[in-house]
Amino acid sequence: MPTALLWFRRDLRLSDHPALLAAVDAAGPGGSVVPVFVFDDRLYGPSGEPRRRFLLDCLAELDASTGGALVTRTGDPAAVLPQLVAELDAVSVHVTADAGPYGRRRDQAVERALGDVPLVRTGSPYAVAPGRVVKRDGTPFQVFTPFARAWREHGWHSPAVRPDPVPWQGDVRSDDRPPPPDLGDVQLPPAGEAAALEAWHRFRDERLLGYDEGRNTPGTNGTSRLSAYLKYGCIHPRTLLADLAAEQGSESVRRYTDELAWRDFYADVLWHRPDSAREYLKPELQGMGYDSGPDAEQLVRAWETGRTGFPIVDAGMRQLLGEAYVHNRVRMIVASFLVKDLHQEWTLGARYFMQHLVDGDLASNNHGWQWVAGTGTDASPYYRVFNPITQGKKFDPDGSYVKRWVPELRDLDAKYVHEPWTAPGGVPAGYPEPIVDHAHERQVSLDRYAAVRAR
Ligand code: FAD
Repeated sequence: MPTALLWFRRDLRLSDHPALLAAVDAAGPGGSVVPVFVFDDRLYGPSGEPRRRFLLDCLAELDASTGGALVTRTGDPAAVLPQLVAELDAVSVHVTADAGPYGRRRDQAVERALGDVPLVRTGSPYAVAPGRVVKRDGTPFQVFTPFARAWREHGWHSPAVRPDPVPWQGDVRSDDRPPPPDLGDVQLPPAGEAAALEAWHRFRDERLLGYDEGRNTPGTNGTSRLSAYLKYGCIHPRTLLADLAAEQGSESVRRYTDELAWRDFYADVLWHRPDSAREYLKPELQGMGYDSGPDAEQLVRAWETGRTGFPIVDAGMRQLLGEAYVHNRVRMIVASFLVKDLHQEWTLGARYFMQHLVDGDLASNNHGWQWVAGTGTDASPYYRVFNPITQGKKFDPDGSYVKRWVPELRDLDAKYVHEPWTAPGGVPAGYPEPIVDHAHERQVSLDRYAAVRAR
């Protein structure tokens, strides 16, 4: 009886899973499906500990959902998969297409190594697969707004039905899974598909209609916190978009749909320009001057550990270390601070985020950083420098976000929280004075920008 392999990667769920349906189809009546995950050292090793832990927890949940059938193997997929195919005499290997630079190369290598056994790509982790939405002249979009318009016009499929039962084959040898990293006090969201669906349903029913207001205030629980689930495919954006279609008409629904479009947009940019994972999307800023040496390193260390003396920056960096997550508004503020106040290259911050975020995703992270640095897709005609004080006052007006993550400032009146040096008693004991003068560093950054543009 035919055996089909379903190779899981960033699609750790059973609902709305077109590649699973394709595998069940290929196995046919009486056949079986073998679910497999490969620990690939090129990907698993360099992921930060929060992502490794979350992935392992998602796999444990997926294993339970398949009745314990999930096979895990370790090594280069181009060696591991042909070997497994030979062991099981499998007829095909099914995957959700990977659009990332490494994933595309890896899949081509696996395809070659499988020889006559097809690697069948069905679906992608995105509402619209990267590369599909292009301008009328066939060239890719560089700017979000026209991309989002074309993306909506293109549209997407309805969620795929969940096959039930799946003829899992449960007697295949597995390698031991790596031991889960110990994260100490870091609080991750519960892993897996059931938790993802529950988080989505709770957000949809209780907070979605307030999203337009709530999404910019880090002190409130205004966003969906689905990013890690979307990253690992515990839930597919199609599932969310199908529910959103039922709620059309509200500004919050439009906004939330836009955020999913940003996710697709950055994946699309990376698909067209795989080099932009590391290289500047806009090469004009390549020669920008950055700071180095022991003093600069000390300032970076203060940023990393949440001790810059700028409360909203410190709260964000402490949230990163405490929850492996940072609110979107605060990601922009802390990124701007590193690049434009501390004059560090965006790649340094992007690497640090990837080590510490549970939702760390090459496309969204590196293009989020490039957007803030001004080297990416920001269409603004001026060089944007976030002011950490006014941003704090505007988006955390009662100081609740800062007070949650910076206990040294908990006793301050809200009006001093974002400028503790103006409080009657001065900066509270244990909290640092500002490590730089924002107005001065802003000017330095603008001057360096002007110099590089004048070349
Ligand atoms: P919600 O506001 O509930 O949004 C719903 C979903 O839309 C998110 O889960 C996410 O998948 C998507 N989304 C929202 N905003 C963006 C955006 N600006 N870009 C791309 N997708 C978006 N997001 C990641 O998933 N992984 C990253 O590694 C990452 N790094 C970032 C780095 C920087 C410097 C910046 C400025 C942004 C980064 N983002 C990243 C985007 C955004 O901050 C997170 O997706 C968001 O904060 C996740 O919280 P949420 O699920 O509650 O978002």
